[in-house]
Amino acid sequence: MIDLYLQQNPDTKLYKNSVLEDESAVFFMVRENFQKFLIIHQSAESQGAGAFEGERIYTGNSYFIKCPLSPGNSAALRNLFSFTRPVLIGKQNSYGLGDRLGNAGAAHLKAIRKTNFKPILAQQSIRELQRTGRTAREVIDAATWAVFREGYRDGYGADGDHLKTKEDIDLMVQAGYTMFTIDPGEYVVNEAIRMNSKQLETELISLPWDELGDKPVDFKSRYSGLKAELADGYVLSPSEQEITAGMVKYGRVIAHTKKMADYLHHTYPDHPAELELSVDETDQPTTLFEHYLIASELNRLDVELVSLAPRFCGDFEKGIDFRGDLEQFKKEYHQHLAITEKFGGYKLSIHSGSDKFSVYEAIGSLNKGAVHVKTAGTSYLEALRTVAEADPSLFREVLDYSKSRFETDKKTYHISCELQKVPDANDLADHQLKKLLDDDDARQVLHVTFGSVLNGTERNENRFKERLMECLELNEKLYEKNLETHFDRHLEPFN
Ligand SMILES: [Zn+2]
Repeated sequence: MIDLYLQQNPDTKLYKNSVLEDESAVFFMVRENFQKFLIIHQSAESQGAGAFEGERIYTGNSYFIKCPLSPGNSAALRNLFSFTRPVLIGKQNSYGLGDRLGNAGAAHLKAIRKTNFKPILAQQSIRELQRTGRTAREVIDAATWAVFREGYRDGYGADGDHLKTKEDIDLMVQAGYTMFTIDPGEYVVNEAIRMNSKQLETELISLPWDELGDKPVDFKSRYSGLKAELADGYVLSPSEQEITAGMVKYGRVIAHTKKMADYLHHTYPDHPAELELSVDETDQPTTLFEHYLIASELNRLDVELVSLAPRFCGDFEKGIDFRGDLEQFKKEYHQHLAITEKFGGYKLSIHSGSDKFSVYEAIGSLNKGAVHVKTAGTSYLEALRTVAEADPSLFREVLDYSKSRFETDKKTYHISCELQKVPDANDLADHQLKKLLDDDDARQVLHVTFGSVLNGTERNENRFKERLMECLELNEKLYEKNLETHFDRHLEPFN
């Protein structure tokens, strides 16, 4: 039957992994004139595909439905096939594969299925939704089609990333997300390390002890004299000052996380949900005692985490490798892991995880515990690598525009590149353009300006998105090969 369709539509390419037969119908995905469709074939008597919208094509005593990849058809597909819905991933190795353009999922799956990692295909923060001009549901829809196209049946997760308010949770639940990354960053008291003991005592008393279900005196007696054995015989034994400072710094973080977790579970008791806590965006690295304190308090408050993102030592800048003392990172990571084991074995989560090849080596060589790595911008950079190869003049325009936007757009990012080091597009020959994607300065300039490039800076300006999408669709093979190769490099060090 598939052959019949392909014979009648000679310019059509079949995605072979997508073919799925159930009792009454055959489903498969094709590409026609650089557009993708879901095709459903049914014998005339059966009616199962009624939920799908599309053109009905009759041939003899059977017919095909040619369905665009519309929001309605995405929802119908998720209703029909459970493997196209996001699920809970749990405490096993996982990779967050942010896909800002919505066309990288299939290549992500090609790389991931060679490993023992589970994919979090949809990974979407509220901030990034605004920059990409997409909805939370569109991001899930893109993942739905990716798993269908690849015939990936092992389950994927969907991560509502850096959620700060109850409204953020509502939005992500309604769109079908299953992982909820709580970001209580605003509640961190970074000044705690500079306070004297009198100030610390005052601050400690003023914490929301009711919400914490606790009293300062009980808190102190729980931690005073603590000796917790971690890895390699190391014993964590914080001073009284460290204990108080830790709670002053993170007490409100713990209370807020408890509130968000309770809101999620009480408001949506039937919605599958797993929780990550991210404290990665603080001034100073998370100390072992701070991690211990957060984990132990959340444990006392019955908040179960699937993962926690500390702020590790060294620099995790966007789009480039780790900068810092790798040996120190490895030692600390090992100790952080020992803390997770004491409180339920949740995963350590690496934010700004793109391109941290030396960190992957370090974690892979420990070969212990479970890890979650979050990536996003690096897939956009692979898209630009493809454009540099396939349409140099479009890439030149994007590069010049990115350079012009850099000083404004860089503000919310942790990066250190220098704009002057990135050459002007016109000074480079075509074959030199793609090498910019291997240059740290150029990578960061291109990385932080994605919102302006995709969406324009004024309302509806939409500068480059359509042209980029078209170029990638025309060069799908090259794009997906670039992505797969790139993610093989991300994943190999763990295996
Ligand atoms: Zn983060």
